[in-house]
Amino acid sequence: MKIQFLGGAGEVGRSAVLVDDALLLDFGLMTGTPPSLPVGDPSPEAVVVSHGHLDHAGAVPSLLSGSERPEIHWTPPTYELALLLARDTLKLQGNSPTSPFTGEDVKRVTEVSRTHGFGEPFDAAGYEVTFYDAGHIPGSAHVLVDDGETRLLYTADFHTDDARSGSAAPARTDRHGRPIRGQRLVAGSTDRPEADVVITESTYADVEHEDRGVLESRFAESVKSTIWEGGTVIVPAFAIGRTQELMLICAAHDIPCYVDGMGQRVTGLFRGHPDYVRDADALRRAKSHARFVTGRNGQRERIAAQNTAIVTTSGMLSGGPAMTYVPQIRDRPVNKIALTGYQVDGTPGRELLETGRAEIDGQVMPIAARVESYDFSAHADREGLLDFLDAYRGAEVLVNHGDRCAAFAEELRADGFDASAPGLGDVVEV
Ligand SMILES: [Zn+2]
Repeated sequence: MKIQFLGGAGEVGRSAVLVDDALLLDFGLMTGTPPSLPVGDPSPEAVVVSHGHLDHAGAVPSLLSGSERPEIHWTPPTYELALLLARDTLKLQGNSPTSPFTGEDVKRVTEVSRTHGFGEPFDAAGYEVTFYDAGHIPGSAHVLVDDGETRLLYTADFHTDDARSGSAAPARTDRHGRPIRGQRLVAGSTDRPEADVVITESTYADVEHEDRGVLESRFAESVKSTIWEGGTVIVPAFAIGRTQELMLICAAHDIPCYVDGMGQRVTGLFRGHPDYVRDADALRRAKSHARFVTGRNGQRERIAAQNTAIVTTSGMLSGGPAMTYVPQIRDRPVNKIALTGYQVDGTPGRELLETGRAEIDGQVMPIAARVESYDFSAHADREGLLDFLDAYRGAEVLVNHGDRCAAFAEELRADGFDASAPGLGDVVEV
């Protein structure tokens, strides 16, 4: 089996792995102006997509811009998310010559799409492929590829439930008294199918996440105290996964919240796939607890003056309705901006954390409102990665999707693994 890394090698973004020049695993975009595609201009016989985030599914329509029509395999939620993302990219880039694809290409996606559930083997380019629940976002999959001799497991992005004991936080349970140890939106990855080669993500290879229960309590108490003091809390959140997680947290802690931006449509999409979320009832209640913002008739200005939480895109303050709210609330120290995920270097969110200022619509604004940061990550941390990989001590491990892949591979080797971190464009024979 020949494995080529066309993107996401030693970086986060534009994930793409090509197997034997025939089967393509993921084809993501790296955000930027213009967005960048994976390298190598592949023309695969079939494509398998792990999950519906921009950096894994965002460039898929561009594979259909020539005469080739490879089948595209994914879970039902991933298919719908990929279409949503593609239409959003068209809206942002459509008329620009640097747009990665056209409206025609997106239409073709619907013609070549093949959806599969977890644990249902299917044929793609002559390989037997099986999806396993990766616990990252609804529909996210580990991808097992079997050519009859070699079994390749592509973990893609995944999250494991917190196995730590002795947490100081009150135990979180669902309505039926069952414990919740990870994300509320989806349960963590538990399947460990046998494999000879594992390509593993490593986003948080050097991070120990705070216990999820402690993190959630800290967030809830902070937001509630600001609301009691008469303030407004802006909660910037990614549309896919994070917005719904925060809606579930707001409902569980009885925090009044509005939801704005693309996360509204994604919530409807997830509600259409109850089998792919941890607790469809909880999501339904979270939806009725939250108030969705239309943005008509100055609604955002009115909401920004209320004592409430506002969950809104974008997660790093680089666009979306957050751009309307932040200038409205920024000058009162009683208000708060609660960031909910990692802030990439160069984004307004990162700038705000580091300097207390943010550039909004080309204007640098000092922010008097308090700024806090909570890591509601949907990725396994170091302990989660090691716990997962422990099931693959006999396999060859290839580390990708991280900022320090080579260092993590070296640490794995020191721990007895056969591990390496291929670079962009590298070919590995296994
Ligand atoms: Zn992801």
